[in-house]
Amino acid sequence: MSLPFNIAIDGHSSCGKSTIAKSIANKYGMRYIDTGAMYRAITLYCMRHDIINNQLVQSDKLFKSLNDVSIAFEFNTITGESETILNTENVEDLIRGIEVSDNVSIIAQIKQVRDKLIILQQDIGRSKNVVMDGRDIGTKVFPDAKLKLFVTARPEIRAKRRYDELTQKGNDVSFYEILKSLNSRDKHDISRAINPLLRAKDAVLIDNSDLSIKDQNILIENLINNKKS
Ligand code: C5P
Repeated sequence: MSLPFNIAIDGHSSCGKSTIAKSIANKYGMRYIDTGAMYRAITLYCMRHDIINNQLVQSDKLFKSLNDVSIAFEFNTITGESETILNTENVEDLIRGIEVSDNVSIIAQIKQVRDKLIILQQDIGRSKNVVMDGRDIGTKVFPDAKLKLFVTARPEIRAKRRYDELTQKGNDVSFYEILKSLNSRDKHDISRAINPLLRAKDAVLIDNSDLSIKDQNILIENLINNKKS
């Protein structure tokens, strides 16, 4: 594959974007970047530093702190997965909890936060073939991506998958709490003024509500192979 061969995956919350991205990265030797993890890490920082409280943001404090926040990924050789590092701390598990999920869309709608992360994301994609998932990858981060996918599924199906994932890890959560959080995140992501969640004109729509992972992989591999040839 010639550089840069970037794949953009956007879509609603918990629709399996990361599963798709990891599988593509594995098969084609690309680097997977989870941009949601970046927004989640900044959100965790804000929660810890009282920058966000009851979903209210102290903007001045946030703007002053942004230079102190560094986000990176570290490959875990045992799990074979990339993990999120906030400053020097591995926060991979902490950023997946429901508290961060409930606050992240509020932090993600702030222009200064997006500007910082988009520069970081574009830098990573310049030197490596990446498969990146998020909300604005095909529209804003990589408008020239070789392949763009827009993934979705019915809300109840997405909530059930997320519920299974969290309970399997031992989290005590309710299905309805997750469905509510997911719907609220989608609403914020779609309606925000800056870089809302939007299907790029040239993105292929994949509704995987009734699609097996195997069939989805076949469909996507065909799309990639067509772009390569
Ligand atoms: O992908 P994930 O669900 O972990 O993303 C968490 C949140 O981060 C999203 O609901 C959205 O508010 C924000 N996000 C974003 N732009 C991206 C990736 C994530 O606004 N590119």
